[in-house]
Amino acid sequence: MDVEKPVCGPGEALIRVKYGCICGSDQHIHKGEFHPRTSTPMIMGHEFGGVIEETGAGVTGWEAGQKVAPDPIIWCGKCPACLKGHYPACTSLRLIGVDLNGGFTQYISLPVSMLYRVPAAIPDEHAALVEVLGIGCHAKNRAKVQKDDTIVIWGSGKVGHSILQAVRTVTGNRVFMVDILPERLAVGPKHFDNVITINALEEDPVGRIREETSGKGVDIAFEAVGHAHVIENRVNPVRGCIQVVSGGGKVCVLGLGNEVSPVLFKEMIWKEATIISSRVSHGEFAEVITLMEQGRLKPEALISRKMHGSRTQEAFEILERDPAGNIKILLDFGTS
Ligand SMILES: [Zn+2]
Ligand SMILES: [Zn+2]
Repeated sequence: MDVEKPVCGPGEALIRVKYGCICGSDQHIHKGEFHPRTSTPMIMGHEFGGVIEETGAGVTGWEAGQKVAPDPIIWCGKCPACLKGHYPACTSLRLIGVDLNGGFTQYISLPVSMLYRVPAAIPDEHAALVEVLGIGCHAKNRAKVQKDDTIVIWGSGKVGHSILQAVRTVTGNRVFMVDILPERLAVGPKHFDNVITINALEEDPVGRIREETSGKGVDIAFEAVGHAHVIENRVNPVRGCIQVVSGGGKVCVLGLGNEVSPVLFKEMIWKEATIISSRVSHGEFAEVITLMEQGRLKPEALISRKMHGSRTQEAFEILERDPAGNIKILLDFGTS
């Protein structure tokens, strides 16, 4: 689709997009599952990075040539959650690329208040991954991961792997990753030490984790499965998380599945376990950029393949066809 180059309004910066990344929610939008929230035609993309080309009237402190990562969240500032400073739970939360035009394009003009500075030393490709790594960092912060915590991440897709990267900046202790796709499970141990993978089709994750931890369980369990498959002789992921945390442990849920997940509360109460939820990010862009600068994240571990932006449609088809072999597809919008 051809669109006009946007005009840089007051308080805005015109950004030349370099790379964008497809999110799981983009795949749902692409399949029409976000109707009527998302209307067409619309430019998708909430994970992207680029370089400022021009600044609008009244903008100070931002220069052309500055590499940026835009935080796609727009919150209202007036609802009870926003007034409490808890904007990820804003009741009228909107995202660029979901509720209004986004970054899968060559140019976008955005208020500078949405931008984070990315140092020149960080590759353009990685600037597009700040958003998704922010999801992992937010979950890590919500669960208050401590040094030496043992962890299970149930679901090793885009979100699960971003959580793995985030928790690895805090704890070097064992991280278990549960999934049913061996190709996805293989990614974690390839890039990080002390990652133990469990294929839930082959063995019971609850039994295996208990065995590996001498019955103690893990300190924190993250549920990042989303639309869970029913597997015979296995409890659902949320209940599995509850069953494998130790006394006083924490379960952090992120998966946005539509299914009801039955839990037996006494399994939680006996342990005085805590359930936490985590949605989008809460300004973790700054933390991610600092961690990238310090070389403590491995953004390239998330990238399964790179394609030109003109092949975006094909990229969506590949993700649908081969979810196992593709964690993140990076789209190149910077070259023509
Ligand atoms: Zn996303
Ligand atoms: Zn609000």
